[in-house]
Parts: sequence; C-alpha cells; structure tokens
Amino acid sequence: MKVIINATIVMSDHLVPDGRIVIDNGYIKECGRAKEIAIPDGAEVIDAEGLYVGPGLIDIHTHAADNKWLFEQPEETSRYMLEHGVTGVLPALYYNLDKKGYVDAADNIIKAFEAGKFSNFIGLYMEGPYLNPNFGCDREKNTWKGKIEKKDYECLIDKVKDYAKVWCISPEREGIEEFVKDVKIAIPDITFAVAHSEATPQQVEKYIPYGLKIGTHHTNATGTIFKYSECRGVCVDEAVNYNREIYAELISDRMGLHVDPYMQRLVRRIKGDDRIILISDQFVCDGPIPAGYEEATDIHFDFAGEIAGSGLTLDIACANFMVHTGCSVVDAFRFASLNPAKLLGLKNLGSVYPGNVADLIMVDYKFNVKNVIKKGEKL
Ligand SMILES: [Zn+2]
Repeated sequence: MKVIINATIVMSDHLVPDGRIVIDNGYIKECGRAKEIAIPDGAEVIDAEGLYVGPGLIDIHTHAADNKWLFEQPEETSRYMLEHGVTGVLPALYYNLDKKGYVDAADNIIKAFEAGKFSNFIGLYMEGPYLNPNFGCDREKNTWKGKIEKKDYECLIDKVKDYAKVWCISPEREGIEEFVKDVKIAIPDITFAVAHSEATPQQVEKYIPYGLKIGTHHTNATGTIFKYSECRGVCVDEAVNYNREIYAELISDRMGLHVDPYMQRLVRRIKGDDRIILISDQFVCDGPIPAGYEEATDIHFDFAGEIAGSGLTLDIACANFMVHTGCSVVDAFRFASLNPAKLLGLKNLGSVYPGNVADLIMVDYKFNVKNVIKKGEKL
C-alpha cells in the first residue's frame, strides 16, 4: 500500500488542499483531506510537497514522440510519453501509409502492447485512410484518393477491430457511407471523427447518428467555402462549433501557429469546458526552424518550411493552453485527461476518485511534470 501526502489534489471541478491519496494494488482506495484520511500502517509514504496531483494525461491523437514514430519504436516512445505524464495514449496511424503499411504499423504497436512494452497504450486512432487529398493530404501522392472499395479496406478493419477507438473520415468522400457502415458493424463502439475535410455542416451532421463525435485538430486542415467572393460560407469548423455532442481537438503550441491563441479562447468559449480535448499530434520531421519562428520549439517543420505536425507532448500542450486561454490547472487536467476519458468511455480513468486506476501525475503551477505514478507504481 502507498499513500501520497501533502498533495493539492486536482478533482474534476475543484481542488483539495493538503490532501492524501491511498493507493492499494494499483487502484485509488481513498482520497481526501488529511484530517479525513489516516495513513495506513506500513504504507509507503510519498510526499507531494504541495504539488498538484491529478489524473495521468490521455493523448488521444499522436503519431510520434521524441521525434520518433510510435509504430516504429513503440517501447521507447511509450516510455518517453510516460515521463511526460502521458499515462494513456491512442497512437495515430495516418493516410501516408499504404495498405500494407497500415497493417504492419498496427501489428507492431499491438505486439509491443501484448509483450508488456507499451503500458500506456489504450487503443488506436485511425487518421484515414479516406481523407480529402486537398487538405493536408498530399494531393499528388495520396494512395487512397481513388474509389473507396471494400477490397482495399476490409483487411485494415479486420486487423484493428479489437483496438481501434477512433476512426477519421472526410464525409464528402464519395462512397464513404458504405465504409462507415462496415466499420460500425465490425466495431460497434467506434467513435468517428471529421478530419482533413471541406464537408458542409450538413455532410458532417449526417454522420452524428453513426457516432461522429470529434472534430480532429479543430480548425486545422479544414476547408472554407466561399458563398460569394467576399462572403464567408460555413464548413467543418462551424459544424464542430455548432453541434454540442462534438468534441473539439486542439493543438496548442507555444506560438499559437496551429491555432491562434484568440481562436483557442474563442473555441473554449463556444464549446465549453466539457468539449475540449487537447492533443499533441506530434509528427516526425527534421526540417530547420524557419527564421522568425525561433520560439516555435514545439513544432516540427519540413524542409520547405511548412508546419509538419507538432513536436509537443501533452504536458507542454497543457502549459501552452493555460498561457493562451488563462485556464486553470484544474481545467488543463479536464482537457487532457477527464474529457478524453469521457469521450472514450474509460470509466476508471481521467479523474482522482476511489476505485479508479492509480495513474497519477504531480505538476507545478506551470504544469511542469515532477512525478509520475503508473498503475500505483512510481516511474
Ligand atoms: Zn491530421
């Protein structure tokens, strides 16, 4: 048995100062104010020294960590993310893989998980393959831009059906509905996401009854339809903002290049605190930081100077979002742990509560991760 003392416990909507958390066999047994929780006889005492102690972070969307692909180096990247407080992750597989590439990548991750080398693996985030090639998906070389055919995707569904939690689609792709139906039959609990798309709000809303609940990297790689030359139309972003059931993923980098800080505040105001999910969406890229962007140390650029995903881990995203929006530490944990857990239906993760898995992290007021406990064990 273990007990964390002198904790500022981060609950889902408030703080418990001078708190204690009793951990038994990997689970939270009790938590609350020191005067209400006795230190069990023989328990190992961990002094939090007043730090915030909240639920481990859950990154539902990232391709890489430490500039390495998750599917190529699952064990190393898993460990790196854990050190940054990410106790749950959905590795994302992108359209840039061909059919064999997708299957092999999924296989590699699943094998690492089954061998006990990917303890924070929760499931897979399928970003594609059927996205709109005109929106950040390589118009020329996209191997998935042709007709959507069962013979191309059935092996993919079959490979990931026990692990896929989120599947991204571009609703405007011709033939996507049959694909969505087939995914839904194979994986009844799947959550769909709208991604890399110029769909109309009506095209997006058509898939809400199928379980579309996420706007993937909201306001990034989405189209803007112009009704007339000087009149802005409505598109994916408006559908995500408008529909209360849809969660908005946000990439919050230090300079606010993916999403302008003003837009981050606007989205928070529109979507409310229950529908924001921070993601890292890290991508492997080795291009130099372009002149004038020296502060963009948490973004990866390609050699043409284009943004090529982030270099974030979720703890840094939380710190950035606190700066850009003025949200509290409690809110940051909500956007990076509670909301992802709720979205995915993970009932014993995402909050500090008796009976939950003891995935806990300690952070300071700037969201620097100081200590990580994974299923009751210190890293
Ligand atoms: Zn993407």
